[in-house]
Amino acid sequence: MTLRPLLKQIGLKLPVLGRVVRERDSCREELQSLRLEFLRMAAEREAFESLLHSPSSEQLNSGYCHCCRQHTFFRILGPWLRDEYVCLNCCSIPRQRHLQYVLDTQFKGWEDLVVHESSPTNDFLSRWCTNYSSSQYFDGVDSGTLVEGIQCQNLERLSFADESIDIFITQDVFEHVFHPDVAAAEIARVLKPGGAHVFTVPRLYWVPTSEPRAKLGPGGIEYLKEESYHGNPVGDGRALVTWDYGSDFEALLKAWSGLETTAYDSVDRSRGIDGELREVFVSRKV
Ligand SMILES: [Zn+2]
Repeated sequence: MTLRPLLKQIGLKLPVLGRVVRERDSCREELQSLRLEFLRMAAEREAFESLLHSPSSEQLNSGYCHCCRQHTFFRILGPWLRDEYVCLNCCSIPRQRHLQYVLDTQFKGWEDLVVHESSPTNDFLSRWCTNYSSSQYFDGVDSGTLVEGIQCQNLERLSFADESIDIFITQDVFEHVFHPDVAAAEIARVLKPGGAHVFTVPRLYWVPTSEPRAKLGPGGIEYLKEESYHGNPVGDGRALVTWDYGSDFEALLKAWSGLETTAYDSVDRSRGIDGELREVFVSRKV
């Protein structure tokens, strides 16, 4: 072949060669990222196995998490299991898993009901529920008003219509309201017949009679006991504990709302349910 046709042929093939080189480079990059991913997974597996076979294997167990709906590992991070026994997949803690276990077992198909959650700190319920809404409490704001896109609801003055909600959820909220009698009656009002208030609260089993820790007086908050705070997803990050609930809690709820309340308790490490003050309460509207 003479030089001219040979150069022409090479010229025609150059773009093809360029594309092949680019594809080769991109395959190399993909291979490298797969290698890194594989190494990361191998390191994770090694860490899990060393935990499983280490002397502290009681700190880790496998099981099913009702929050992320996966088989997972539960890890004990400290002595207060209520906050320190976490799902390694979704970071849920026992009371959250127990609440979703109660929903899954006592309210089959709850995902398709009208669900409202007051003051959620995560998306554990919303991710499974087709008709879910949530709200937070903002001091001095009317219920139903949006604050930076977040709906405000005051449990003592809900803006919802009578009998409009199937499942009303509160998780560790009731120990922070000043008038739980009014809040319980309000929730009963907005529940549909057959609906339920499903909630957690740290009921102190060693306290026989429920007592307020603080009340609202003409000059503001009056402290009846030493100030105590829990974490809060809004505001200054802390919520004042206003009530200590004790053995008479279900009877009080009946007097306040007219609803019968059942306390569910369970210890089941295969579902990551263990720890202190783990009851889930269900107040049903007949
Ligand atoms: Zn989980």
